[in-house]
Amino acid sequence: MSSATKPELIDSFGRTVRDLRISVTDRCNFRCTYCMPEEGMVWLPRTEVLTYEEIARVARICVERFGVDGIRLTGGEPTVRAHLTKLISALAVLTVPAAANSPLAGQPIDVAVTTNGATLALVAADLQRAGLRRINVSLDTLNREKFKQITKRDELASVLEGIDAAIAVGMAPVKVNAVVQRGVNDDEIIALATFGREKNIEVRFIEFMPLDAQAGWLNNAVVGQDEIVSTINEVFALEQIASRGAAPADRWRYLDGKGTVGVIPTVTKPFCGDCDRVRLTADGQFRTCLFATDEFDVRALLRNGASDDAIEALLRRAVGEKWAGHTIGQVSFVRPRRSMSQIGG
Ligand code: SF4
Repeated sequence: MSSATKPELIDSFGRTVRDLRISVTDRCNFRCTYCMPEEGMVWLPRTEVLTYEEIARVARICVERFGVDGIRLTGGEPTVRAHLTKLISALAVLTVPAAANSPLAGQPIDVAVTTNGATLALVAADLQRAGLRRINVSLDTLNREKFKQITKRDELASVLEGIDAAIAVGMAPVKVNAVVQRGVNDDEIIALATFGREKNIEVRFIEFMPLDAQAGWLNNAVVGQDEIVSTINEVFALEQIASRGAAPADRWRYLDGKGTVGVIPTVTKPFCGDCDRVRLTADGQFRTCLFATDEFDVRALLRNGASDDAIEALLRRAVGEKWAGHTIGQVSFVRPRRSMSQIGG
């Protein structure tokens, strides 16, 4: 890439790519019902999983050549992969090019992690020392029995300790992601909202998406944004916060000043028109959409001596072919071959 070329990556719909989601593993220590079966998941052979050096190289190319300014590490469960701090340290030193069309131009990139929080109390300080500044913790219920029902693990206490540990080491923001399923935890919307208000952290309610490995997703199990917001508003008056930009969540502030709450309405109010996200799977496949049905093999290039230019060219071609958005609820919708744990949130 010549120095004159502006570091940017824009798709055919005029959307600028800024956010790279990287799945560092397909493995997980939970078995959340809306993600994977209790038994029988076939994990990727370790040889097929990108090394931290390979991940850091793709990340560097995306930052330097495209002006990507945000990287989120996901899984499976990212903290089950050893030495995660090594990767975070390598990413935290990446700087957004000064010429990039980004609010972070000339500054370090924004590194974030999405975790189930099971071991967070043990690793929060190390992650923070490695350069992690913000974190999202998945928490769908505050009820111990229901937690076991959803995750197949008795780990509610450790997740709550993990959230407190992330707050204690100064990560900010600490956010909670709660996937709402009708008949499972939709009776806890107020309890979870209250939890966020008391901890002064933002809870983001996520609409249930057709990415479960068991392919059991049904539209009538989706609790939509309007229903979630009206449920909360009946108890805690809300005011919507203006534009969300490319961020996935619509957000509201509590009129009594007790913070904010968000909803990610992927199914009922798709936000693909502003999408700035692309993904790299643990086995080195580049995806331009969470629901993409095609992928681009970066690993093959990484492991066959390809140059940065060749990798850049592949990613540009991929984004050039990015579709307008998902078609959930339409006859044209085809579930991706991968489940959520094999893509990363
Ligand atoms: S569904 Fe795909 S295109 Fe739409 S916002 Fe999500 S990643 Fe972007």
